[in-house]
Amino acid sequence: MHRAIYPGSFDPLTNGHLDIIVRAATIVDELIVAVVHNPNKHPLFTLEEREAMLGESLAGLNNVKTAHFSGLLVDFVKEMDASIIVRGLRAVSDFEIEFQMALVNKKLAPGVETMFLMTTAEHAFLSSSSIKEIASLGGDISDFVPPVVKARLLERYKVKK
Ligand code: ADP
Repeated sequence: MHRAIYPGSFDPLTNGHLDIIVRAATIVDELIVAVVHNPNKHPLFTLEEREAMLGESLAGLNNVKTAHFSGLLVDFVKEMDASIIVRGLRAVSDFEIEFQMALVNKKLAPGVETMFLMTTAEHAFLSSSSIKEIASLGGDISDFVPPVVKARLLERYKVKK
């Protein structure tokens, strides 16, 4: 039984994340998509909002669950009785930081493997921050995020304008 954790900020979930989730779910038995609470970051959406958007968007995937955590990722992985960390790679710039994190996590928890999935070409340019910028400037984000995320972004930026 392979249980995996896909951790991230998901502020908000994009079609790039979704693609990684759908593909990882066909490889592992159970996938837990876990929203990270990082007190040093100032996300647009609260932890609860980010997890709710994930839950709605992943409703059709039977072996995928959502969760949230704070603190060390490897502690959460052990707490969930999982043995795999899933991460996505877009560009060489992702590789540097992901490589470092994978090595640190391996040192902290030798029994846990990090599994990388390469982005698909159509999602290579997608990031939560660029989508927030496009949405805040009134651009069309329909092709970049699930419908629930689009609705929440439009609502959020309308209120702020
Ligand atoms: P973090 O703050 O942990 O990087 P993100 O929500 O930005 O959280 O990303 C979570 C994971 O998803 C990371 O491994 C990131 O590289 C990956 N990811 C983000 N966008 C894409 C994308 N468009 N294609 C593939 N992987 C992606």
